[in-house]
Amino acid sequence: MVGLAVAAVALLGISLACAANITTAPITAASTSTLASPTTALSATSVPQTTISVAPAPTTTASSTQSTQTSVAGDDPEPVGPVPAPSPVIVLDPGHSGTSLTTIDPATQIRDEEYLNTPETQNMFDVAVLLKSKLEAAGYTVLMTKQAWNDTVIKRDRVNFANKNHAALGVSIHTSGHTFGSYGQIYVQRMDSYRENIHGKKVYFALPDVAALSAQYGLIFLAERRKIEGSSVVITVNTSWGGRGLAPGNIPIVQLFSEVPWILNEAGVPQNARDKDRYAQSLFNSIVKCVPIGGGDSPPESSAIVP
Ligand SMILES: [Zn+2]
Repeated sequence: MVGLAVAAVALLGISLACAANITTAPITAASTSTLASPTTALSATSVPQTTISVAPAPTTTASSTQSTQTSVAGDDPEPVGPVPAPSPVIVLDPGHSGTSLTTIDPATQIRDEEYLNTPETQNMFDVAVLLKSKLEAAGYTVLMTKQAWNDTVIKRDRVNFANKNHAALGVSIHTSGHTFGSYGQIYVQRMDSYRENIHGKKVYFALPDVAALSAQYGLIFLAERRKIEGSSVVITVNTSWGGRGLAPGNIPIVQLFSEVPWILNEAGVPQNARDKDRYAQSLFNSIVKCVPIGGGDSPPESSAIVP
């Protein structure tokens, strides 16, 4: 579940129900007519005047006058001969941490909070391991933001890991206080997405091409997850973060920080091993439709994993 739900439980002792304060209308996919690779899109950020841009994009324009100027193109030598089909990098982000840890993100001054939430933390790691196995069997390169269920990892580090490894897609895996199959939420990255930093300034998501891909992928997750989990699965926007010291806003922080398409999923709580496998299969079916093997949206060869 997201922080809001935890806050509600902590303050009110009620059952978890994030859905009370969200809109449930499916989001219409943004125009995809100009979809370029996320890397190319990063230089085309547009930030409202009163906002701060997240994750300043590497630029391909020659604006530097320094003698040590770096060249993006120089990192990718011309391929010679047939190029093997790349293995798309999928970053799986099982929700929550082994211990609570709150930091202030240096780049944005947003409060970055992680915490232990049981049994969600253990259950979602189990689902991620199942999903990783399915994806690897299908030919994907799968990286996990945690190596053990009780690892403590702040959100900025989860996202930096995906950004550095040029993930084709990041997928966060959560549950909320409902039975599996009776509840599901999907969050995408939108251009009106923001969180407020500790100085009260709104930090907006500012990568339009990534937002377009995220919207497109969100619709795929919606269709595929409904086939397994039922019609309760919806694309939503939670506008109610801000309780318990969490940064106010309307997007999960991992998605705000990400330079790559990132889908955050909430589902009902798995009651047994079969439910965990159904959740993993639901996400697997979604991912393979979003980023098909050899489908063209893949990043470069991923033999060198950046820690
Ligand atoms: Zn959660």
